Formats: sequence, structure tokens, C-alpha cells
Amino acid sequence: MENSFEQKLRPRRMRINENVRAMVRETNISVKDFVYPIFVVPGENIKEEIPSMPGCYHLSVDKAVELAREISALGIPSVEVFGLPEYKDAIGSSAWDMTSPVQRAIQAIKAKVPELVIVGDVCLCQYTDHGHCGELCGHYVDNDATLKHLQKVAVSQAEAGADMIAPSDMMDGRVAAIRQALDDKGFINTSIMSYAVKYASGYYGPFRDAADSAPQFGDRRAYQMDPANSREAMKEVELDLAEGADIIMVKPALAYLDVVRQVRDSINRPVAVYNVSGEYAMVKAAAANGWIDEKRIVLETLTSMKRAGADIIITYHAIDAAKWLRG
Ligand SMILES: [Zn+2]
Repeated sequence: MENSFEQKLRPRRMRINENVRAMVRETNISVKDFVYPIFVVPGENIKEEIPSMPGCYHLSVDKAVELAREISALGIPSVEVFGLPEYKDAIGSSAWDMTSPVQRAIQAIKAKVPELVIVGDVCLCQYTDHGHCGELCGHYVDNDATLKHLQKVAVSQAEAGADMIAPSDMMDGRVAAIRQALDDKGFINTSIMSYAVKYASGYYGPFRDAADSAPQFGDRRAYQMDPANSREAMKEVELDLAEGADIIMVKPALAYLDVVRQVRDSINRPVAVYNVSGEYAMVKAAAANGWIDEKRIVLETLTSMKRAGADIIITYHAIDAAKWLRG
């Protein structure tokens, strides 16, 4: 039979069946790409679901260790530890208190599940009584005063056993300050995963319930980035690399995949994305209503992050995705 028109190029040949598709697949996600964020709280034997983040829990240290074991058994290489402290004050001093849930959880997980790479989130908003990410001067977050506190938080987490320090505060110069503080204390092998490109985003809503970290006044636009800017993202990346960041993060992920690609194409360091609470909550809510196929949407979304250039994906979907990928 003769074609009525020339059809030499038929891309559908490469989609003919699953084995062919697998052979030419350009992007594969793996359980090894994931970091699972956990929220630790004071107390014992606590595992309470976070209402706006179904499937995620507030965990006491003992329960966090249990979950860490499960995470590691699934092949997920890393957890990032967030916490709710026992007390809050103007400068967030519970953030570097070695008896706080975060430091105790890091210690306990490192002792019981030593292979897990522990990332410590460094910020003050969960620990200040005003909910901002640093020390205030009037209504302004005082950059340089805050750096001194961040250094203490980073060192306390490294002392507890964190392998990686992840500053999320968006103060200028924090990476250099933290690098110096870590090196001064001998933590030369503790790496820094910088939230270099962190936008002032509406997608953080559910996290603020989870971490009880909503600001008491104003918002974070005077330190987090304007969602409209991508050239500025490259400036932040350049500064953090010069200051000694080992890994560069873009946060949130989904609404900023163009920025992820731009960063990936411009640097030779690993790139991480944070698939944030709002992105997670939207998927969970739609899935609970039967409006979407959760597994399919999650794997497609995580693939899009990898395709955009992310090496590391911090995601609340990690446990489910690990099970799905295992088949
Ligand atoms: Zn913060």
C-alpha cells in the first residue's frame, strides 16, 4: 500500500510498547533522589497527623526514629528534620538548644539508623515568638544579628550528628557565616545544602500549620524572593556558591521549574528542589475527592522536577513514591 504522503519520521515507533518506551526514556526517577521531611515535637509516643498534610505526622523523637527506620528500609537515603520547640522567644534560642526535639531527634536517628543522611533545617521562624526568620529590629529582620544565631543552630545540629546543614532563612551571607562556624568547630565534612532560591510563596501554607511558624505580623517578602524574578535567582545562586554551598536548592518546585532548569544549566553543583507542603496538599485533596489518580500524578510531578534538572527532590510523597517505584 502506498502512502498518500511521505511519512519517514514516525516518532510513534519509539512509543510502540512499554519496553521500547523504557529503552528511550530520558528521565528516570529513583528512590535515591528523595529526601523525606519530618516534623518532630516534644513528648513521647506521639504520632499525630497534620490536618492539612494527610499522611504526614508530628512525631515525638521515639516515633521519628521508628519512621526513620522505615524510610531507610524503603531505600530513601535521607531525611530533613524540622521541629517544634518547647519554648519560643524573641531570638529563637530553642533552635540551638541541644535538648530541643530537633537536636535530640538528629542524635537518636544518627545512633539508630546511621546510614541515613540527616539534613538539619536551619531557620528561626519555628523558634521565635514573632514567627519571623530572624532577630527583629523594630519590624525589620536584622540580617547580621541573625547570622550569629544561625551559626549556633548549624553547629548544634552538626554536634547532634547532622550530615548536612540546610539554611532556609534567606539572610544575606548566611552560607559563609555557617561554613565558617562549622569549620571553626572542626565540622569540615558537614556539607551545606543552601535554600539559595527561596521564593515568598503561597505554597508554604500547610507547612506553617505543621511547623507553627506563621509570622505574627507582616510577611516574609523582605527576605524571601519575589516569585516574578529569575535573574535574581541566578544572583542568589552565584552568591551562595561563592560562600561555599555544596548543593543549591530551589523552593518551591512545581511553579518554578523554569528556574530549576536555568540553575541546572548554569552551575556544576548538585541542584535540589523542595516539593513543598502546598503542592503536596493540593494533590492529596484532589485525590481524596477522587478527582485525580494520585499515584500517576505524583510520579508525573516528581518526574517533571527531575526532567527540569533536579538531582535531589525533597518531598512529602517520598514514602508513597518509594513503594510505587518498587512496584
Ligand atoms: Zn524561616
